[in-house]
Amino acid sequence: MPAHFDLLIRNGICVLPWGTEATDVGVRNGRIAALGVGPDATAGQIIYAKGLHVLPGLIDPHVHLRDPGDKAVESIPTGTRAAVLGGLAAVFDMPNTSPSITDSDRLVWKQDYVERESWCDIGLYVGGTKTNIPELAKLELGRGVCGIKIFAGSSTGDLMVEDDENLERVMRSGRRRIAYHSEDEYRLQDRKHLFKSGDPYSRHMEWRDEETAFLGTRRLMALARATGRPAHILHVSTAEELDYLKDFRDLATCEVLVNHLTQVAPDCYDNLKGFGVMNPPIRGPRHLEAAWRAINDGTVDTIGSDHAPHARDKKLLPWPDCPAGLTGVQTLVPVMLNHVNAGRLSLTRMVDLMCAGPARVYGVVGKGRLAAGYDADFTLVDMQRRRRIEQSWIVSPCGWTPFAGMDITGWPTAVVVRGQAVMRDDEVLGKPAGKLVRFVG
Ligand SMILES: [Zn+2]
Repeated sequence: MPAHFDLLIRNGICVLPWGTEATDVGVRNGRIAALGVGPDATAGQIIYAKGLHVLPGLIDPHVHLRDPGDKAVESIPTGTRAAVLGGLAAVFDMPNTSPSITDSDRLVWKQDYVERESWCDIGLYVGGTKTNIPELAKLELGRGVCGIKIFAGSSTGDLMVEDDENLERVMRSGRRRIAYHSEDEYRLQDRKHLFKSGDPYSRHMEWRDEETAFLGTRRLMALARATGRPAHILHVSTAEELDYLKDFRDLATCEVLVNHLTQVAPDCYDNLKGFGVMNPPIRGPRHLEAAWRAINDGTVDTIGSDHAPHARDKKLLPWPDCPAGLTGVQTLVPVMLNHVNAGRLSLTRMVDLMCAGPARVYGVVGKGRLAAGYDADFTLVDMQRRRRIEQSWIVSPCGWTPFAGMDITGWPTAVVVRGQAVMRDDEVLGKPAGKLVRFVG
């Protein structure tokens, strides 16, 4: 009797962990049941993927969906809708909301909420503060928790642990890998007087200079070495840090943002003004080139969007009153596919950075590769499709993207999450049915 599946993906080119193969994928009960399905197999639903690449469901491990917070800017339903339209099957959401996710009551609230409202699967960070350190060991084991997030330097929100004594206490509470925003808060405050309101937006990268980031990372690595606690350095933005982190591969993984691979100073500040201001800042060509070298020599583990929307009127304020943070969850995949087509990295390396990388760094269970038994999460992409990123395509309520006008080759055409098609050809399908991602506890 021919095999029967819930879903079959026919005639696609699959990016498997061991190479790229033209093969069919059979799905049963939300999981990959077979690779290499015979022609006589039947299915409840068939997706014909001729001419398309079938990738494992792509993951953005760094988004700020601002919920609870200001729904006029972003929320779980709108941000995850943007994610699936942009080709993502899962996102990991940051805790610096209003209020922040820093205790078990708020975590339980968010666990329930996201499983009602999310269009894709979702992992949750819990924020570390100076007052919840004793609870972190328990909080990091919560359902759907991808890890503890520490802001060692100030950004949006009120979460911060900046001093060595408390950072060491954090590292000694719990054992999973901790994700850090690494900028040295003391240096930021010491140098603030050098700048004034109304200075050019490019002063952002002078205030938050290379040494601010590098010093933060040196301090964190010294503490991680002393405590043995694994670290993940988010949004590494300098050539110096990328070079330095090579000596800490036993302890530290790292992320680079798509912005730091795509946008460059001073053009970004000249063209985008406040809409080019983010933390850590977009810097000059030396750092862009170093980021690409680190992608291609394997220093970098994950790529994120750091989707961090703010209201348009706030971004129009003069520097430094305009808040730092850019939208990106809907544009991450197209911009990365364009880099693949430009020859800057291979499609397999992109999949490594956006599937296997997050799975390895955060200990994801059952996602991140096309293999039997894994969740049936797929991102289908058309590597030939040409399209321009338009402001009007953005579904985040704040309504803007720093990539507007960029011509892209390579576009996501469908997203499947645990066997259910949630996006096809710019259309979001069904109802929000996202679940919490599972992690090795
Ligand atoms: Zn962030």
